[in-house]
Amino acid sequence: MTTLVTIRPPDGSPHTIAIEGTEFVAPDDRVTDEIDTGHLWALPGLADAHAHLTMTSLAGIEGLTEDEMRANIPVTAWAHVERGVLLILDKGGNTDASLVTLDHDADLRPFAEVAGAMIHPAGGYMANYGVEVEPGELVEHIRSVATTRGGWIKIVADWPRRGVGPVNNYPLETLTEAVQIAHDAGARVAVHSMADGASDAVAAGVDSIEHGPFLTEDDIRTLAGRGGAWVPTVGNMRHWVEALGRESSGGRLLQAGLDRMEVNLPLAEEVGLIVLAGSDLAIPHGQIAEEARLLRQYGLSDRAATIATSTAAYDYVGRKDSLTAGSTADVVFFAENPYDDVGTLDRPELIIHRGQVVE
Ligand SMILES: [Zn+2]
Repeated sequence: MTTLVTIRPPDGSPHTIAIEGTEFVAPDDRVTDEIDTGHLWALPGLADAHAHLTMTSLAGIEGLTEDEMRANIPVTAWAHVERGVLLILDKGGNTDASLVTLDHDADLRPFAEVAGAMIHPAGGYMANYGVEVEPGELVEHIRSVATTRGGWIKIVADWPRRGVGPVNNYPLETLTEAVQIAHDAGARVAVHSMADGASDAVAAGVDSIEHGPFLTEDDIRTLAGRGGAWVPTVGNMRHWVEALGRESSGGRLLQAGLDRMEVNLPLAEEVGLIVLAGSDLAIPHGQIAEEARLLRQYGLSDRAATIATSTAAYDYVGRKDSLTAGSTADVVFFAENPYDDVGTLDRPELIIHRGQVVE
């Protein structure tokens, strides 16, 4: 027995498909049930491309024990599923605890790709956080972690030093070699940049720029040209402007970055750069629709902001055509077309996760 649903994508024509177990299958004479979705608009799921399931909020990122980080995962994972966020990219954390997500029951969490402990040299990120790797050791370190099953490596590209301002953590040649080794091992590299390190990261061939307020026009065109991704995390940047204080050096830097976003987001849309929505703890787990709204506010169209918060991420992880037979039966329905109003995304009418209606 299978269940029939009608799928109407925001800009395509509707098709019917059946659900059997956790999968979409072609409708046939085994259909015994139907969920009436013909009047709704469908996306494969919302997606959060910069989450940290081991942590609950920016207020509590330091000092967590390994057990606490592991215990957070079932709670934060379900917070995503119950709001229709069925795909996440976890961009790492203090330790490799983030990888535990992959062992958690797939019915109780979003589809996930995961980075382990964040990599930076001493002084190049929050103290006692992640793993300290000096420039001379980076290539060997990447060789040792690139085969980790999470699929991602997270490197911090720049960080402010007291009295000096932001400094790039690794020389371009080192970063380039490290990225090549990661790619040879089948891993992708995400790079944190809140200053100018993003340009070297783009030049080094990284896959995803996290934050990246100071990407140049050339960087955006280069990254777009090779199918790279940008996860602006507007909500996170706005959080830090307030938390650091608008008149502090850090607050002024990040406000300048936010101002740049208003130029860079329309440019990214124009040149076809893959922009992905990321909550990064500034937005509560599961509420990625709020970042979609901010991406719209800072310059994307409703259509592009919706794509950034759904299909672009599915395509990026190789789940293109995910609303067709043979794919995992993940689908989220909305009463209005989100391409017309991104605000629709936080009001899903119906969520089906791995073939089950989420109550
Ligand atoms: Zn983050």
